[in-house]
Amino acid sequence: MKNPLVILAGLVFLCISVPVILSTAFYKDSEISSTNENIKINIETKGEKEEKQEKEVINYETIDEESPNISIYNHKAGVIESIDIETYLYGVLSGEMSAKFNIEALKAQAIAARTFVMNKKENPVSSGHKNAVVCTNYKHCQEYKSYEELKSTNGTQWMEEYYTKIKKAVDETKGQIIVYEDKPILPLYFSTSSGKTENSEEVFSTQYPYLKSVESPYDGQSPKYTSQVVVSKSDFINNIKKSYPNISIKSSNLKEDIKILNRNEGGSVGKIKVGDKELTGVNIRSIFNLNSANFEIEFKNDNIIFNVKGYGHGVGMSQWGAEGMAEEGFLYYEILKYYYTGTEIKDLY
Ligand SMILES: [Zn+2]
Repeated sequence: MKNPLVILAGLVFLCISVPVILSTAFYKDSEISSTNENIKINIETKGEKEEKQEKEVINYETIDEESPNISIYNHKAGVIESIDIETYLYGVLSGEMSAKFNIEALKAQAIAARTFVMNKKENPVSSGHKNAVVCTNYKHCQEYKSYEELKSTNGTQWMEEYYTKIKKAVDETKGQIIVYEDKPILPLYFSTSSGKTENSEEVFSTQYPYLKSVESPYDGQSPKYTSQVVVSKSDFINNIKKSYPNISIKSSNLKEDIKILNRNEGGSVGKIKVGDKELTGVNIRSIFNLNSANFEIEFKNDNIIFNVKGYGHGVGMSQWGAEGMAEEGFLYYEILKYYYTGTEIKDLY
């Protein structure tokens, strides 16, 4: 059971911050950037204001046309299929987010998945698809499971309870996508933030005006909010040497040889000195299989301990952050506009 004070504080925060988000959504880009600043201030001053305000709900379902078919490359069967995009999205949403999440978080994810398809339609990938718009390989595009696959994996009860919910999230946002300057965005998302998301250019080297670092205060319920990886000093050196055979590093002097040099705006490690080399937080994440590149290093006896915050690359929408916002009463479009700076929702069909 939640502490009543926490619930009250949450309600007050909601009442103050929702109108702020709603109002800034209609302003110019330069003014939108102050949204996160306002939210931060509201968190700090929660409890001081107690007036309640009615929330205005925006209806984005303005067009009702038939949904188009898209071509998907089924990488397991090795064939290209033509499928109704909304039916395809049922199979994507089931694979990309837990169906136990709040319906508003699921709607946000459904729109992100639909936007991904429209973005790929405008920017076709040159390899791996054989002319299909998207493929079913989650490592390349998005996870996709057909109705039959889901039924055989999850059983009838899951289908009744959760497939229905997934369908609802897709159906109730039919045709809606996220746009920036009227173009479908690249809707990057990840599991869990460290409390703040990352600037795309600091993680992937490409800058997008809508993939900007924002505070993400509601990720605390994620089972992967914090994690720890312990490696012995000798394993540390061996693993580093597998990737960088010429590195000069001594186990006797590791504490001096490993130094975090700077951090990105979202908190992940930017540059880190390891021996005589300068690596990145992303390098270290991949070598030691860390949940994210946001870590602190602790030296204890013969071990090196990575204390890691968050899970994933940190750019775009945090799924657990979206779930936390939804639980606080934010609606899907508020969640999307919050994580994708300066964007709008557009109904295509
Ligand atoms: Zn693909």
